Amino acid sequence: MRTQKCHGRVIAILVGCTALVLAATGTTSAQAAHRAGTDRQVLPAGDGWAAYGTGTTGGAAADRAHVYTVITWEQFKAALADGGSAPKIIRVKGTIDADGPSCDSFAVPGYDFGAYLAKYAPESWGRTTTLDGEPADSPEGLRRASAATQDAYIKADVPANTTIIGVGKNAGFNGASLQIKGVDNVIVRNLRFESPLDCFPQWDPTDTADGNWNSEYDSAVVYGSTHVWMDHDTFTDGGHPDSTLPYYFGRIYEQHDGELDIVKGADYVTASWNVFEDHDKTILVGNSDSAATAAVDRGHLKATFHHNLFRNLVERAPRVRFGQVDSYNNHFVAGDGYSYSYGIGMESQLVAEHNAFTLPAGATAGPILKKWKDAPVTAADNYVNGRLTDLIAVHNAEIPGETLRSGTGWTPDLRTRVDPARAVPGLVGHRAGAGRIG
Ligand code: CA
Ligand code: CA
Repeated sequence: MRTQKCHGRVIAILVGCTALVLAATGTTSAQAAHRAGTDRQVLPAGDGWAAYGTGTTGGAAADRAHVYTVITWEQFKAALADGGSAPKIIRVKGTIDADGPSCDSFAVPGYDFGAYLAKYAPESWGRTTTLDGEPADSPEGLRRASAATQDAYIKADVPANTTIIGVGKNAGFNGASLQIKGVDNVIVRNLRFESPLDCFPQWDPTDTADGNWNSEYDSAVVYGSTHVWMDHDTFTDGGHPDSTLPYYFGRIYEQHDGELDIVKGADYVTASWNVFEDHDKTILVGNSDSAATAAVDRGHLKATFHHNLFRNLVERAPRVRFGQVDSYNNHFVAGDGYSYSYGIGMESQLVAEHNAFTLPAGATAGPILKKWKDAPVTAADNYVNGRLTDLIAVHNAEIPGETLRSGTGWTPDLRTRVDPARAVPGLVGHRAGAGRIG
């Protein structure tokens, strides 16, 4: 520790000179010490799958030249792009708009949503042909080009060895899509993510019998990356819930994708003390059953979810394919439109233990699990509305056509502390989400 230039002996012993600079600008030395410590925190040993092997340190080893404080989307993207994979810490102050001035600002010349609706109305276009082959100067071609403009703007690529951390109680992003893609060792903490809105959803006439509007942009995606710790973040549709979205062709004009997707051979992820709320399709672990995807995902997609609050979601908390997923000490609060919490997908190996579920009066526990494919599940010590409940037995009794098998055959050992399930709602309610560690 450098002490020679400092003027306060006690402060110097605590944190070095930085504390004096911050003290002069109105931050107390104690706050500054806490701040500097939080910025450089690493994932504790043994804390979930992200602790496996080399563990997750993010940018903790950053030198002074690679500590950034940003207040705009442009500054944030510039900080991400600077310095290659040298360890870096990016401190986010306040709420950063990542969504651009407006959807119109992304539209290419000639794009006209009215023309799009006129050309692809089911009455004229039908429901058997997708729009994928449409030429560049068609309404769909112009939609594609406009979408590409938005895509480039709202996505931000996170390099290896990075910590992104919110400062204080109200740091975050509106409409950002963090791409943690093909890298190792990333920490994202204390940030509120208000879901991106896809300005240009694509109509797929062949998706279900009625067609569907499909959209892009997860708030964060872990794509082929390893050692990622998402901690004390909040993911929400915020001011743009699905209930406010319009309908076209009789279908909801869906502008949201996932809150946190873990895909394409990603591995060693810990999601702890986050709030996932007010959203439909929340978390995918693995996004396809296809042979090509299976070849990449099989043996990977290992993720731990603990002490998260899953509130007012429709589905996927998470939906799992292939991975060994450990979900313990989470609180699930179902609201209107609740479909299921855990999706049991292809070759998944979910362990769900010591969790608490709060269901509305009259709702039954059977739909907490949803069987998509035949795969084993381990479930134990879960409480539904305060009552110890065998999730698999209740599911199988209520939904006989979807019988689930018990026993994944693996035992999670990367847990630092397991709380009694009945204490989880209180613990998570007081401590999960953004704004609580800064
Ligand atoms: Ca904006
Ligand atoms: Ca997605």
